Formats: sequence, C-alpha cells, structure tokens
Amino acid sequence: MIAGGCRCGAVRYTLAMDDLPAVYCCHCRDCQTGSGSAFAEQAPVREAALAIVKGAVVDFTLPTSNGAISRHFACGTCHTRLYNVNSGRPGLAIVRAGTLDRSDEPSPRLHIWTSRKQPWIVIADDVPQWPESAPMDAFAALFLPGQAAE
Ligand SMILES: [Zn+2]
Ligand SMILES: [Zn+2]
Repeated sequence: MIAGGCRCGAVRYTLAMDDLPAVYCCHCRDCQTGSGSAFAEQAPVREAALAIVKGAVVDFTLPTSNGAISRHFACGTCHTRLYNVNSGRPGLAIVRAGTLDRSDEPSPRLHIWTSRKQPWIVIADDVPQWPESAPMDAFAALFLPGQAAE
C-alpha cells in the first residue's frame, strides 16, 4: 500500500498499489500558477485505487484548455492540493506526487508542455519530453500498464 497526505497532516490517503506510481512533470502555465512553482509533478492512478482514509477534503472545479472540467481535491484545513480528476479522462486520478510519503523516490518519466518550461530547468536527454501535452496512448503506456482497462 502506498500512502500520502497534506502538509498539516489532517488528510491522509492511500493508493491500492504495490509500487509507487510513475510520475510526470507538467510545465504548462496553469500548473505553474496553480502550484505557485515551476512545474507540477503528477502521478496518474486509477481513481478506484485512491482512498481518503483520514480527514476532510474540499473540492473546486476549473475549466481546462481543451474544454474539459478539472475537479481538484484539497485538504480542508491547510488546502494542500492532493489530486484532481478530469471529465475528459474518466476513471483516472492525477495525484500531486509531492504529497506521497515517498516523494523522494520517483524520477519523472515524461515531461509535458516543455514549450512553457522555465529556462533554468534542464531535462535529462533520455527522458521523453513533449512541447505541449502528450497523446493519451503515450501516457497510458508509461503510467497505466495493465490498469487502464477499467
Ligand atoms: Zn492539511
Ligand atoms: Zn499543466
């Protein structure tokens, strides 16, 4: 079982997975502004594998550039954003990888929206990068092997 939580400790979640999920980085403007940082580090998981096991979350919705609606879930106390779901990708939850207890372990497998990347960030040559978003099948192959079917 993989676990994580918010900064204040009020909310804890688990992922019904044996190994840490793979992570990617999104360098788009929305992720920069929304995270207050240079990029967002994200871990796609099946929504059914994610469970809030302690505390109360609040949620809010935002439109995305492709017309879908993204619903974000955050700690009700400290407002750390924990994950989001997207109407264009039913069944998938995008966990904020920095909230994992073992957040120091995964190395990003993919970078997207590098056309908006901050100029000081250097990405290793052997890590795939896309100037804008990556096609869904590129995501599925890297992040959801064997778990996309449901
Ligand atoms: Zn909190
Ligand atoms: Zn983004």
